[in-house]
This record gives sequence, structure tokens and C-alpha cells, in this order.
Amino acid sequence: MNALAQITPTVRTTCPYCGVGCGVLAQPDGRGGAAIAGDPGHPANLGRLCSKGSALGETVGLDGRLLHPMLRRSDGVLARTGWTQALDRVAGGFRAIIERDGPDAVAFYLSGQLLTEDYYVANKLMKGFIGSANVDTNSRLCMASSVAGHRRAFGADTVPGTYADLDLADLIVLVGSNAAWCHPVLFQRLMRNKTQRGARIVVIDPRRTVTAQEADLFLPIAPGTDTALFCGLLVHLAERGALDAAYVEAHTTGFAQTLVRAREIAPDAATTARLCGVPEGDIAHFFNLFYASARTVTGFSQGVNQSAQGTDKVNAIINCHLATGRIGRPGMGPFSLTGQPNAMGGREVGGLANQLAAHMGFAPDDIDRVRRFWKAPRIATREGHKAVAMFEAIERGEIKALWVMATNPAVSLPRAGAMRAALAKLALFVVSENVLSNDTVNAGAHVLLPATAWGEKDGTVTNSERCISRQRAFLPPPGEARPDWWIVSAVAQRLGFADAFSFGSEADVFREHAALSGFENDGTRDFDIGGLASISDHDYDALAPVQWPLRAGEQPGAAPSEKRFFAAGGFFTPDRRARFVPPEPPALQEATSAAFPFRLNTGRIRDQWHTMTRSGQSPRLAAHLAEPFVEVHPQDAGTMGLADGGFAQVSSAHGACILKVMVTDNQRPGSLFVPIHWSAETASCACIGDLVSPRTDPFSGQPEAKATPATVAQVDFPLHGFTRTRTRAALTLPAGTWWAKVAVADGTEYRLATSQGPLFWHDFAYRWLGPDARLAEQLDGSTYQVAAVLDGRLDGCLCVAPTQAAPQWDLAVLAAEAAEAEDRGRRIPKTQSSDYYIGETEPVVCACFQVGLDAVRKAVSCGGATNVGDIGRTLRAGTNCGSCLPELKRIIFDERIAHPL
Ligand code: SF4
Repeated sequence: MNALAQITPTVRTTCPYCGVGCGVLAQPDGRGGAAIAGDPGHPANLGRLCSKGSALGETVGLDGRLLHPMLRRSDGVLARTGWTQALDRVAGGFRAIIERDGPDAVAFYLSGQLLTEDYYVANKLMKGFIGSANVDTNSRLCMASSVAGHRRAFGADTVPGTYADLDLADLIVLVGSNAAWCHPVLFQRLMRNKTQRGARIVVIDPRRTVTAQEADLFLPIAPGTDTALFCGLLVHLAERGALDAAYVEAHTTGFAQTLVRAREIAPDAATTARLCGVPEGDIAHFFNLFYASARTVTGFSQGVNQSAQGTDKVNAIINCHLATGRIGRPGMGPFSLTGQPNAMGGREVGGLANQLAAHMGFAPDDIDRVRRFWKAPRIATREGHKAVAMFEAIERGEIKALWVMATNPAVSLPRAGAMRAALAKLALFVVSENVLSNDTVNAGAHVLLPATAWGEKDGTVTNSERCISRQRAFLPPPGEARPDWWIVSAVAQRLGFADAFSFGSEADVFREHAALSGFENDGTRDFDIGGLASISDHDYDALAPVQWPLRAGEQPGAAPSEKRFFAAGGFFTPDRRARFVPPEPPALQEATSAAFPFRLNTGRIRDQWHTMTRSGQSPRLAAHLAEPFVEVHPQDAGTMGLADGGFAQVSSAHGACILKVMVTDNQRPGSLFVPIHWSAETASCACIGDLVSPRTDPFSGQPEAKATPATVAQVDFPLHGFTRTRTRAALTLPAGTWWAKVAVADGTEYRLATSQGPLFWHDFAYRWLGPDARLAEQLDGSTYQVAAVLDGRLDGCLCVAPTQAAPQWDLAVLAAEAAEAEDRGRRIPKTQSSDYYIGETEPVVCACFQVGLDAVRKAVSCGGATNVGDIGRTLRAGTNCGSCLPELKRIIFDERIAHPL
């Protein structure tokens, strides 16, 4: 039993990061923080957590929190106000604009980080009572293509399978999914299947990720060719007689036309190989594996979804499972791996602009049913603007009031720079947030509403396998922070809808949400938790993870991972048959050109989450990959004159960023990879949303985030260095400085690169550290170091040196010498810079035990370690959460190539 479980009060809650939805045990430490452990009783993780989940305790502090409502004054300054004034301003502003310009002149932009209860109330207000469907969510950027693909094929947004299928499958195909980094606990689960049962893993991805290196077969297909691959597979299965003709006949329509289309696109393995840019033998191997493995799960994620043809890709995958009848049975099925912690809950309440509520759409019967349930005479009767279209409507001045909740669109939207400018046009711009400053707040929000954060809020979330779990508060709400459902209800009451928004608790909201799902639901709607519509407050508080559906009369308690859909048909189309969907031939919407010859791929890194407002506070997470970077293939690096560890400007038609260069043959020639996490809060010029194309999928509205035409050019900074302070406060570095902000123990570090010489930084240091600071400094050629000492401790420091010389500093040495210098005057003894060592620039591979790359390399090259077991025994790396195991394997492999025995 986990040690935390023996200590009271331990609170059972759910991780706020990815869609795996791991159960967490949180033990408040009485000082505002908490000890964190995995919940052994939660079916999603059985006690395991990844590096991000394990570090949650480092992220619950109040540094930078928004604690009070704020209004922007006419001079542009945000000033504290009371809840009454803030809510009156929001309600008054929305009412005036609705009365003048109509309900479609206002919009809500929500988030997969919201709890289901928050989502439900916001959706009800906009669609039911304001009368517009202009309510969309950052989940549009994440998995909208899966939703659209499910609805086209199944008639509903239904995930047919469960996590248990990953234990039972003989073949697991991962398409566009770096699960080792983005769904680490789930990835460890399927790796156990590989180790213990011999399951085969196929990874399909343009980039050789750490997930790919664990595969039995890796297909590095050209960007955008997934549809061709699965059309080729469908043809192959048909020609080898692998179809389940009885299932196709009894439960589906449209197979014949779909096979014809598949043959037109990819009639054989040779054509498939040519289209995908992969050797024919590897394509044939994949086809044979799929043919031979009845128990096959195809997991797909952002590499499939974030595409202007994402919906067709999803349907091309589903087509192969329908054709073989491999759906809804143990170890079989297409499986959407959801990115966000509550994207599924958002889908359940109808938080997308093309859904109404409870998995109902805008068909007349659905509108009528929801209208009667909500008693909402002004209910929206048509779809609203999806995310990209919503912000383009703001840009055109058509939407005049926007309320953003729990997300950072100024960073994450495509063409983000233009979107930030568009936000300035709003007559009313409201942001519900945890933090006082982020790029969206700083884009000119007029009203800031302090929302409770993870650890302070109560409600439910739904993970990728339809399992509803409780998030529970274990810390008091700080300042005047309130739950989002409360804030929205308070505004709704001011708008005159008190009767419909008189919720007294999260449980009240949940009961209504559950009741709507079961309302007039005779089994023809998939989402039904009517069995929870009368749940008592006590039972809601104690609710154990429960998988839907849970129809009226059923009791919670059936173990999750037992409920599957569609083994015997029963789809949610009018004729209860699934639809085969003939996809369009694969073609990226935007062509590369002489100006933009590369394909820009975007994605996540292992230890950060979204725009880093939470994960960026953790020193141990920051140590993994501390600086924004671009991955370039060695061949392209040579052509473009880029050096590993140098800098490059990455540009598209929409914007530019300056990033560290990582040269790696894990990248396809002609493709660049950049992580999405950095913003104006955390780096000088690394907002990747600024570069991304706004082209969207015609069905899902999801933008093409994986294949923007781009270019890359070398940028030269003669000096590099860093600053350190003991605070988390932002430091304004001189214009023209490249910087990245990094959380470190007891303070903040800024990595920097510059064209300015030592004397410039000497002047800056004196201004920054203050005229009264006790400074100790050293100027040695082009190397400059200065430290401010307070009470014998390093209070702040700055070091710059020539980039090529790559000197290394040891802050402990510098601090000690500076402290000594307090007694002797203001000079540090002249020391050869090569005596110094800065461990902080070494990437940390194992976040749990802070084991760096060099230590792992030495253990292999000098210590004789030959596998991850050896590394674990000597360094402990990889022995806790296991998130670093794939990287350890890669380092061991690379070192043994470089230093053969
Ligand atoms: S895999 Fe990691 S990030 Fe995802 S829910 Fe589990 S602990 Fe959280």
C-alpha cells in the first residue's frame, strides 16, 4: 500500500494534465503544498504517475496567482475590485452587446482543463439562455477530428473501447501519437503487454519519437499520408479475405463505395509505399501484422487530429476496424487517445460549437428536447463558430464580447500573433484565470475573474476510456478565488436567469447534467449517466471512478474497463448501422515553396504541459528540456548552415520564432519539429502558435498544426549566459536578448544569448541589482560574472561569456567567492573560467531522481551499464515513474554505438 494512503487526511483526486486521467492521492503539508502519490485504487493508473503527475506538489504554490477580481482602468492598469463590481461589469457588458448586436455578437471560449460542472453551466448559459452557440473550446485544437470522425462513422461521439484493450491486444498500432511522452502511464501499460504477452507495437509517425524507438515496426510516413496508408490497408485486407463479411452486412453501410475509393487512392502496397515515402517491405510487414492479428487496437492522437484532413484520417482508421469487425470486443478497436484531462467531459456536456448538449446536436428533435429540459425558450438553433472561425469573427469585429475560461488562446491558437491583435478589438474581454499574468490576460483583458485551481476545486472529469472521476479539493480557495461554475451562475443570475442557474453546489450541477443525459433517452443516445441523476451529496463526494454509460436503474460499481460499444452493432445512426466513409485523397492544403521549403511539425515534450502556467513552476520538470528548440535533420542543418546548440529563426507566412537548434536524425529530412509550450511569459520569441497555419479541417474545424510550410535560418549570438534570482518575479531583460525562463530550486533562472558585450551587461547588472547591492564581479576578457550577496547567500547573479568558448560556471563557487568578497571588498579573486562548472545546462533525463544526461552516458561508456536495469541500479534513474525509460534506452543505444565494447 502506498505510504500516503496510511496518512490522514489524504484526498483522492485526479491528475489535471493528460487524458489518461490518473488517480492521485494528495496529502496537504500544512504549508500550502502537498505530497503527491499515485492512487493504487484508480483503474486508469493503479498507483502509477508519470513525471508530470509526480511533480504536482511543486505546482500548487500561490506565486503569480490571481487572488482577486480585477478591472482594467482607463489608463490601462489592472486594479483590484470586488466580486459584485466585477460580475456587474461582465453581466452588464454582455447584456448591452446582446441587446444591441444580437446573441451571436458574444462568445465563450472554454477549456479541456475545466471540470464537467463548470463546462455544463457555461454551455447551458450560452446555448440555452443567451441563445447563441458561440461556445467553443481549446479541445477544438486537440481532438475535434476524432469527434467528427466518430460522429460520421458511429452516429455519435463514442469511444468504443477501454484501457483494458491495451492489455489484451496482440497488436497495438499507434498513429500520430508520441504516447511515451504524452500519455506516459498508458504507454507503460502497453509496454507491459509487449513484455509480458508479446504484443507487437507498430508506430506510424513522420518523426522517430521515443515512442517509435520502442516499436517492433516504425513507419516514418510523409506528413499527411495517413489516409493513404489506411486505404492501402483496407484494400489489402479485402484482397486477402480478412473482412468480417457478416459484421459488414449486418451492421454497416457504405462499404462498397469506400473500398472503391480506397482502391483509387492506394490500390496496392507498392503505391501505398510510394505515397507514404516508406519502403514497400515495411508497408507489407504492417499489412501482414494487421491481417494476422484479430486482437488489434489502433490508438491515434494529435498527429491524426491536428490536420486539415484529420476527420478523413480518423475515418480511414475506423473503416479498417469496421471492415474486420474488430470493434467493441476485448483487445480490439479504434481508440482516440485524448490529449486533455477533461476534453471528454467537455464533449459530454456539448462544449463544442457544433454540439448542443449531452452528445446531442442541432437536429430539430434534439433542440426541442433540450429546450424543454432546460426550460429555455431562447435556445440556440444552429451551430456556432468553431475556435479558429470564432477568433476570425473577432478579428472582423463581428464578435464584440468574449469570455475566456481556463485557457491561453493568445499562445495556442494558429496565427496567434494576429489573434492577440484581434483581442484588442473587443468591446468586452473577460478572462477567468488562476494566474495574474499570461499572454491572454496581457492581450488586454478588461475583467479578470479569479478561479479556483487544481487542488482547490471540486467536480468531475472524464478520461479517454469514458471513466468519470472526481477531482477533489485538498487546499482552501486562496484570496477571493471561486469555482468557475459559481462565477458563470452568478453572471447568469444577473442576466435574469436566476431560476435556471440557482445551483448551490457542484453536486447540484452534476445531477442536472446526469438527468439531461438520461432525459427521453431510450438507448438511442450513447451518452447516458441517468443512473447518477439522483445521486446524493454524500454519494457524489464519495463517487468512485465510474464508466459510462450508466443508465437509469443501473448502479455505479461495475468495474471500469468492462463497458464497450458496437461488438454487436447498435450504432447511433437512424438505422443503427455504422457508416463507412470514403476519404478524400490525401493532399496537404498548403504547398511548400522556395520561401518556405520545410514542413513545420508541432508537439509536446515529456515534462511540460500546454503553456506551462502550472508545469513551468516545477524545477524538476524544467530540468528536462529547459529551452525552446527546433529539431532539424543533419542534412537540412548542413544545407541551412545550422549547428547543434546554436540558434535559428524559424519562420512561416504567419510569424517567426528564435529557437535553440537540435540536430537529430530522428527528424525526417524536410521537416522541422518545435514544441508548443513557450510563451511571452517564458521566452523572448518562442510562441509557436504565431507560426501555425489557420487552415482547418472542413468537418471538424481543427487546424493544421503539423504541416505548416516554414523555413529556418541561422541566428548568431556571440555571447551566452544566464541570470539567477531568489524570486519567481519576472525579470525584464534588455531588448534584443534571447532568453528562456527556467524554474530552479529557490528561484528563477533566465538562460540568455546576446550580441551585447560584457560592459553592456556590467551596466545592466548595476541597474538590475540596484545601487545599494553588495556586488562581487569578475571581468576576464569577454567573460563577465557578477553576483549580489545578501546575508552570505547568493541573491542574484549574471554571467555572460563567448558562445564558442563555452565556459562553465559553478554558482556555488561563485556564491562562496562573492560571500568572501563581502569581507574583502567588491572583487572576486580572478579565476580561470574553465575552473567553473554549471550543471544546470545539462538536460535532466530522470525527473524523479534528477539524473542528468552526462551521468547516464558515463554509466554506459565508463561504468559498463548495458541496459535500463543497470542504469536503475547504479543511478536510480527510471526506477520510479518510468517516464524516462524510453529516453534511457535511446541514450544507451547511442552510447554503445559511439563507444562499442
Ligand atoms: S499520464 Fe501523467 S500527465 Fe497523464 S494523467 Fe497520468 S500522471 Fe497525469
